[in-house]
Amino acid sequence: AKSRGKNRYIIYTSDMYESSMDKLKLESDLRHAVTHNELVLHYQPQFSNITGEIMGVEALIRWQHPSRGLIYPDQFIWLAEESGLIFEIGKWVITEACRQNKEWQDHGCRPIQMSVNLSSKQFFRSDLVDFVKDVLDETEMPSCYLVLEITESMAMDADYARHVLKHLKELGVCISIDDFGKGYSSLVYLKTFPIDSLKIDKSFVKDITNDDDDVNIVKAIIMLAHNLGLQVIAEGVETKEQLDLLKSYECDEVQGYLLSKPITAKQFEDSYESLVNS
Ligand code: C2E
Ligand code: CA
Ligand code: CA
Ligand code: CA
Repeated sequence: AKSRGKNRYIIYTSDMYESSMDKLKLESDLRHAVTHNELVLHYQPQFSNITGEIMGVEALIRWQHPSRGLIYPDQFIWLAEESGLIFEIGKWVITEACRQNKEWQDHGCRPIQMSVNLSSKQFFRSDLVDFVKDVLDETEMPSCYLVLEITESMAMDADYARHVLKHLKELGVCISIDDFGKGYSSLVYLKTFPIDSLKIDKSFVKDITNDDDDVNIVKAIIMLAHNLGLQVIAEGVETKEQLDLLKSYECDEVQGYLLSKPITAKQFEDSYESLVNS
């Protein structure tokens, strides 16, 4: 099983449901969820380390199950991928995220970036670029405010990835490499892929206050990113000490529970009212 947050009530894991009727039930529940608006996006703010301002949010999917409550992505994304439902879910996520960001802009909000996670299955699907273009056209969200978060696993087929990224960049969207440092990455990709930012995985941030190896890794990633002209953002910032260190290393942006948990669109509007009136 995958590791999970402490306070999460575990309902579905891939091991438990392997070749059982329950898995079929979960799959049909998920299929139903897609068509009955049970999926929701929460938004986690990302802050500039220089000005402290909100620069963007990351859209994180949740499943509002009618009887089981809020279900987190670790508990159903694997099945969405296995069953192919990820294509429909992924489309819904991009569409809803762009629609929401455009709505905030239309209400007079200072424009912020909207980051969306792409699964590798989505990334390797041939209609991705056309689809993203259609969503941008339909929602009228300016493309420069969309950030697609991809993972290093997408570099497995480097030529194809380069081709897709080039076309996405032509639409004007930003590309960020998520969970940077966690995968098997080749530094060559950083040089030859058209990307805009790196996201330092929270597993490295976690111990920077007491582990010199993690300090060195984080510092090296930041330096590397800056030398290549990329922005760098740290996720999973939970303490003031971590934040202060990341500031001293000149990490551009931060995201984490210390600053804000992922929140609903409504909570976002209430908490950041000044954004709307700025
Ligand atoms: P991720 O992209 O690495 O997202 C960061 C995860 O860390 C999120 O978990 C977020 O809620 C959590 N997090 C944020 N701040 C902190 C912190 O300070 N400490 C700790 N310990 N955790 C923090 P979440 O929302 O449960 O999402 C888990 C994963 O599910 C994401 O990891 C992402 O890979 C995937 N995911 C989420 N939404 C989507 C989606 O719309 N599509 C796809 N394909 N995957 C998604
Ligand atoms: Ca992410
Ligand atoms: Ca991560
Ligand atoms: Ca991830």
